[in-house]
Amino acid sequence: MILTKIPLVAVLGSPIAHSKSPLLHNHWLNRYGIKGCYIPVDVTSADLNQTLRAMPKMGFVGANITIPHKESVLTFADQISDRAALIGAANTLSFMDDGKIHADNTDGVGFMENIRQNAPDWLPQNGPALLLGAGGAARAVAASLLESGVPEVWITNRTKVRAEQFVIDFGARLKIIDWVNSSQVLGDVNIVINSTSLGMVGKPPLNINLDRLNRKALVTDLVYTPLDTLLLKAARNNGCDTVDGLGMLIHQATVGFARWFGRKPEADQAARNVLLSE
Ligand code: NAP
Repeated sequence: MILTKIPLVAVLGSPIAHSKSPLLHNHWLNRYGIKGCYIPVDVTSADLNQTLRAMPKMGFVGANITIPHKESVLTFADQISDRAALIGAANTLSFMDDGKIHADNTDGVGFMENIRQNAPDWLPQNGPALLLGAGGAARAVAASLLESGVPEVWITNRTKVRAEQFVIDFGARLKIIDWVNSSQVLGDVNIVINSTSLGMVGKPPLNINLDRLNRKALVTDLVYTPLDTLLLKAARNNGCDTVDGLGMLIHQATVGFARWFGRKPEADQAARNVLLSE
């Protein structure tokens, strides 16, 4: 097949130099011999709308959106997927032939596919999920947990009002646990998810006492720098299975790549190695 246009994709954010997305997408483009290009673009909030409108005319077929534009981009989108609307943020855009912008959020898919790949025996219906944190990533995780059949999501956050907003937005299967008492409920949960930034390089540690933790619970961390967080290490010491956060980053990217470049890429060790080599 002779390509008349080489599909271009960008990740838009500010700052953007640290983004690992170009490494991953260009690895897949090389691996599958696909003609295409994925670049980081630093865009301020003031320039976001104008940049997005110009991109389809320049040959861009889509974009990833990262901090600080994930929420505000919804105001510029022409079509918004149901899950992006529920989450209130988008990370994956596709540009239609007529230049219209479709906005989606693939973080929740990435979260759940990572669990399915690395803890295939874990069953969502077996008990409540304890979700630490109520930021943007937590909204995507909560939506995917509810969709997967988890009976309840118990949410705990330092700033309680943000957790209260989850109950309003996601409904009766959400319950609030006091941040200071969160370790008390660990014996009754089927999965623990850290979606705070605690435990990340340069941030304070996540201090949670795991003495009561259900040994059959799965423990996962969205933080992937470091890859093996103190939470994951402590959970394994308690006999729990753990899943790190790097797979979520890879799986969320597979959805956009398939849409833009026409092939679902492998979320495998080679993809992990590319990200870990940096
Ligand atoms: P965010 O919207 O800024 O939310 C940050 C969360 O961390 C909030 O719940 C916040 O609580 C909590 N937090 C921050 N500092 C805290 C402290 N000192 N004590 C207690 N809680 C604290 O960020 P986000 O986008 O949701 O991202 C959260 C984490 O997930 C980040 O580490 C990010 O890198 C990671 N992430 C990973 C993936 C992946 O693919 N693996 C994808 C998305 C995000 P308050 O509401 O009280 O401030």
